Amino acid sequence: HLDRIAAVDDAVHAFLHVDTEGALAAARAVDEDVAAGRDAASPLAGVPLALKDVFVTQTMPTTVGSKILEGWRPPYDATVTTRLLQAGVVILGKTNMDEFAMGSSTENSAYGPTHNPWDLDRVPGGSGGGSSASLAAFEAPLAIGTDTGGSIRQPGAVTGTVGVKPTYGGVSRYGLVAFSSSLDQGGPCARTVLDAALLHQVIGGHDPLDSTSIDAPVPAVVAAAREGAKGDLTGVRVGVITEFQGEGYQPGVTSAFNAAVEQLRALGAEVVEVSCPSFTLALPAYYLIAPSECSSNLARFDAMRFGLRVGDNGEHSAEAVMSLTREAGFGAEVKRRIMIGTYALSSGYYDAYYGSAQKVRTLIKQDFDAAFERVDVLVSPTTPTTAFKIGERVDDPMAMYLADLCTIPSNLAGNAAMSVPCGLSEDDGLPVGLQIMAPPLADDRLYRVGAAYE
Ligand code: GLN
Repeated sequence: HLDRIAAVDDAVHAFLHVDTEGALAAARAVDEDVAAGRDAASPLAGVPLALKDVFVTQTMPTTVGSKILEGWRPPYDATVTTRLLQAGVVILGKTNMDEFAMGSSTENSAYGPTHNPWDLDRVPGGSGGGSSASLAAFEAPLAIGTDTGGSIRQPGAVTGTVGVKPTYGGVSRYGLVAFSSSLDQGGPCARTVLDAALLHQVIGGHDPLDSTSIDAPVPAVVAAAREGAKGDLTGVRVGVITEFQGEGYQPGVTSAFNAAVEQLRALGAEVVEVSCPSFTLALPAYYLIAPSECSSNLARFDAMRFGLRVGDNGEHSAEAVMSLTREAGFGAEVKRRIMIGTYALSSGYYDAYYGSAQKVRTLIKQDFDAAFERVDVLVSPTTPTTAFKIGERVDDPMAMYLADLCTIPSNLAGNAAMSVPCGLSEDDGLPVGLQIMAPPLADDRLYRVGAAYE
């Protein structure tokens, strides 16, 4: 995998940092265990992995795709990092991402875009485009992403790989640099559903260091993937979401999705159509809630505690150093979100914007609850379009935000969702993703249906 990275990553740019020495040392340690006849630490011992650069790592830099953290070395490991290391997983390096995970194309990285291995002129999705591209380019067999509004599933869809957003609280956020704390969720990226399940098992589960971590066992995701692989979905009720079809969806996405629904039916699933009327309000609600939380979370980047410091030459006040540093260190999209969020939270506007968005969030949760009374899983296309061209949407934030139309409801409601490859679009030959959604703590259903389908 290190050779493959050396051969293709100049073109793909999936990695921000490759830890050749660390990876080889970790791999050697696994070899020594095997030679000494010791049990492997986990089924993934010795398997290479690409880690999104939003998880802190003591032995590697963590930039979160931002200049403001350039040169920062975290003094501790994220719980996800620790669990990977304890499982004997070989961390190859840190992957490229939209700055602070804000974006849908990886073009907001301060370190340049990642290219989609299917067509180097196109985006790999975002914010976790580096992680998904590293899988599609065969640089790594496993990767970790984070999904606040779609950043695991949407890059998965447009790179033809699997991505899972676990139930909120299912994977620890300790050491995950915060964007929107009530939405952020780490999860597995892989080329097959079973691989994703094996990784989910390693990183999931309760963590006392994260107050929102769920104190319950990891759902039986590996067993569910193995069960699903038998290809029998008899008795499984699947709901097709009415609101996530029709206008705005590329014809090739629609036909690949319809073929997937037919295949689920052929595997024995009972398919019905389910309306979730509030889902059309999810995107505007998200773009108030996520920036609001971001404006609070990013206040910690004050030029004193971490990374970059500009203008600290004795001539400027502390306030001036703070604003010079933020001016130089944050990119345009991050500044836009901080301003929107600060505005939405300000007195006089709070009820009208943030308060209303929170009410919409409740309506979306109620739509999911009602739907899951009738069906076991919901399905939709993961994204309305296939991978778009690099540069095509950079000047149009609204067009960029639409990439997450179908993924955002699951973040707002906190339930589990997966994107699994669903063939190639007849329009452009690029990958399409099938999104599967399940109730909170029923992540195993995603793996059963995903493995049966794939
Ligand atoms: N594209 C969405 C955003 O820009 C989602 C990002 C994410 O899931 N981290 O906020």
